[in-house]
Amino acid sequence: MAKTLQGRVALITGSTSGIGLAIALRYAQEGARVMLNGFGRPEDIAAARAAVGAAMGGGEAPYSPADMAKPAEIRAMVADCQRDLGGCDILVDNAGVQFVSPVEDFPDDQWDRIIAINLVSNFHAIKAALPAMKAKGWGRIINIASAHGLVASPYKTAYVAAKHGVLGLTKSVALEVARTGVTCNAICPGFVRTPLAEAQVKPLAEKFGVSEEKALTDHLLERQPTKKWVEVEEIAEAAMFLAGPNSGSINGSALSVDGGWIAQ
Ligand code: NAD
Repeated sequence: MAKTLQGRVALITGSTSGIGLAIALRYAQEGARVMLNGFGRPEDIAAARAAVGAAMGGGEAPYSPADMAKPAEIRAMVADCQRDLGGCDILVDNAGVQFVSPVEDFPDDQWDRIIAINLVSNFHAIKAALPAMKAKGWGRIINIASAHGLVASPYKTAYVAAKHGVLGLTKSVALEVARTGVTCNAICPGFVRTPLAEAQVKPLAEKFGVSEEKALTDHLLERQPTKKWVEVEEIAEAAMFLAGPNSGSINGSALSVDGGWIAQ
């Protein structure tokens, strides 16, 4: 029996780690050819390429070192994917960074960096990938937003602004592509066990003078009712469904995978 994504090509930004890597592995297991992107230590990138390559049936997964803060590199990444893999049917805009500070102290360069990587890169990637999707009459654009695309937290102004922007971008693109066979959706994770989120535990423990375990349940996961991490595989499964054959009528949505966070 053919695998669900057999014959599809997926480009996943920020897929050398965390959520993006989990989505890459899941798509590869389902038959997609996947291009990876992201930063990291050379040995970690090599390990990610080998793991996704093995899931694709052997060899190294293709990889683009494009910096999501640089529009020209984003355009080149999409063009490389289309040239080397014969298309770009599924685009997952996942690369993201975080910085936490009171707004009056928020460094200008951190604001610019977060807006560029977490929001503006999605625009450039979609703009570059969409014409070929439309021409083919099939495409899936999946933007990894956040619960912070729907509700706010203090000290995360740039991140919250960027992720709210991602949901606006998602809805607007969804309306534009509604009759083309392409869909554009967002996934809104709560706190997921990845390097990006785990890095926030220690500073909270120090700030409140509590153990890291208590900092996690009482502070970081304060509004996540399950009081436990979302796992990357759970996000990958949601991304798998949105990329699959039975999701064509889901368009412009923000799918929460957040342990009930925004139900409150
Ligand atoms: P992560 O730190 O594990 O992975 C981030 C990825 O983005 C890495 O591959 C990194 O190399 C890449 N990246 C960073 N800057 C880049 C740049 N300039 N160009 C190209 N790649 C770049 O983080 P994660 O938790 O897996 O986050 C993935 C996405 O999920 C982000 O958009 C994040 O905002 C979102 N998210 C994460 C959580 C969470 O709790 N972990 C919650 C909600 C949303």
